[in-house]
Amino acid sequence: MVDQQIAEPSDDRRIITNARVLDAMRTVPRHQFVPEEMRPHAYRDRPLPIGHRQTISQPYIVALMSELLAVEPGHRVLEIGTGSGYQAAVLAELTDEVYSIELLAPLAEQARRSLRAEGYDSIQLRTGDGFRGWPEAAPFDSIILTCAIDEIPPPLWTQLKIGGRLVMPLGPQEGMQRLIVATKKDNGSRETETIIGVRFVPLVSDAAAPQ
Ligand code: SAH
Repeated sequence: MVDQQIAEPSDDRRIITNARVLDAMRTVPRHQFVPEEMRPHAYRDRPLPIGHRQTISQPYIVALMSELLAVEPGHRVLEIGTGSGYQAAVLAELTDEVYSIELLAPLAEQARRSLRAEGYDSIQLRTGDGFRGWPEAAPFDSIILTCAIDEIPPPLWTQLKIGGRLVMPLGPQEGMQRLIVATKKDNGSRETETIIGVRFVPLVSDAAAPQ
């Protein structure tokens, strides 16, 4: 999977070069994070359903977002949308301090089981609305959202360190979104770069402005 889809793809616009990310992608067993009936497809180049109308992202997108986060050992990372737990496991290969929040309790429980079974005991998991972030654990070196919304949730921006990076699908709930990297500059201002068009499930929150 990693060689053909991520490290040496036929389409070299989508190559991932960060060696730590490639190692992490080689290490985490994706099949352990998908439902039983999806296991035969676990290493294909596509997103997969994980129940409750949610999906585990395509491996390339997981690798790309992990690379864009620029995680270094010792960094504290927050993920919004634990889903299957797969992205959290990849992040845990990059640093010891991973926090992840999932809105839907059954998915959060399943992710907890999968992560425990694979030995990812250091990941901090919470069930609830990630729009509000995890203030007690802030500030974070980087923040990743794996669900889409048309604004950067203000609490998440507050919880990002100066110099930190936030990676997310920005845009409407239906249709195309943009994968962006927003960097918090010295004076707290925002520098935003658009990477590619993407399609993620929506972030669901009472705290968000109506879309
Ligand atoms: N990172 C996941 C992909 C999950 S899909 C993986 O590796 O498998 C996005 C997830 O975001 C879904 O599980 C959805 O339930 C969750 N989600 C949606 N709104 C949320 C919110 N406000 N807070 C936390 N999680 C949310």
